[in-house]
Amino acid sequence: MLFSKVIGHAALKAKLIGNIREGRVPHAQLMVGPRGSGNLAMALAYAQYLLCENKGQADACGTCPSCIQMAKLEHPDLHLAFPIFFTDKVKTCDHFVADWRHAVIEEPYIDIEQWRDQLESENKQLRMGVDIAQEIQRKLSLKSFRGGHKVMVIWQPELMDPPAANKLLKVLEEPEPGTVFLLVCSDPDQLLATIVSRAQLIKVPALPPVELGEALRERFPELSEADSVNLALRAEGDLLEAVEMAGKGEEELFVFFRDWLRHCYKREVVQAVEYGEHFQKMGRERQKSLVRYGLYMIRQCAMQWQQLPDLVRVLGQELEFVQNFSKLLNERNADGIRRELETAHVHIERNANPKVLFMDLSYRMMGHLRGGA
Ligand SMILES: [Zn+2]
Repeated sequence: MLFSKVIGHAALKAKLIGNIREGRVPHAQLMVGPRGSGNLAMALAYAQYLLCENKGQADACGTCPSCIQMAKLEHPDLHLAFPIFFTDKVKTCDHFVADWRHAVIEEPYIDIEQWRDQLESENKQLRMGVDIAQEIQRKLSLKSFRGGHKVMVIWQPELMDPPAANKLLKVLEEPEPGTVFLLVCSDPDQLLATIVSRAQLIKVPALPPVELGEALRERFPELSEADSVNLALRAEGDLLEAVEMAGKGEEELFVFFRDWLRHCYKREVVQAVEYGEHFQKMGRERQKSLVRYGLYMIRQCAMQWQQLPDLVRVLGQELEFVQNFSKLLNERNADGIRRELETAHVHIERNANPKVLFMDLSYRMMGHLRGGA
């Protein structure tokens, strides 16, 4: 993970990088942050920078052998410990490490619930027992593979059983040279006070709305700036929460857009009028989001129809829609539909009557989809 991929927190990044560049690498750091703040992402960026063989002023190089291994979380001097569910046979992280890497690369802002879903462990309790503490000790007793630091990332150490926490404390008290502990924690009150006192505290705060809003728009390109900041505010700086809310909003837009086009295709005027009423109630920002979403989907359809499916950036039911709807497109109407939506967007911005605008748009769509107009 590069620092540039960690959302926001510029001052903290600069401080962490400065420390490493000046040779101040504490033996243990406790990266405390609320859900969706990116404390794990920050720890992984820190580890990558520390292990990078060609560090820049502001980030790891991203291309040295060390960075390439870190991108897959497979660096031999990066050790990982995290909560798991126990079975009779499995009590250590090794068994799950491939799953964890996969989950974290996919979503570096992952929380314990998402990890539980990933493991399909349902209601089983996730924890870290004494076997994991022994595993940590054993791994750190090995020599550094590349001769530099050995980094041990412990995610959610607050879920350690008391015997495991006590064992970890011993390891922290008698550090192996060159070992760096990064304890990534969301609830430090659940940790042994003696562990907390052994580590340097790094606070990763909740994300400010503007930065979170920008990050959301990268994930959901059709969100408007106003909508994204609005979501960021409602999520109180929690990226996961914001993504979840944006995802639900997306689903609503998708269903609206798909069903509306279906009615247009079948020239079902009565239903189109009903959609117009729904559209009117959405409010202007949401109306703009819907139109932008429509434009995004039409672009995907055009890509599909031009036999460029590799460029289609949707999945699941959206992909299904794109594959079906693109069959109705041709050179003329694809461009026509795009222009209609762009014009509608301009008119919404100019405060056009939404019901009239939407009815007009519906009739035009009917025409395009039946090769008329
Ligand atoms: Zn590098």
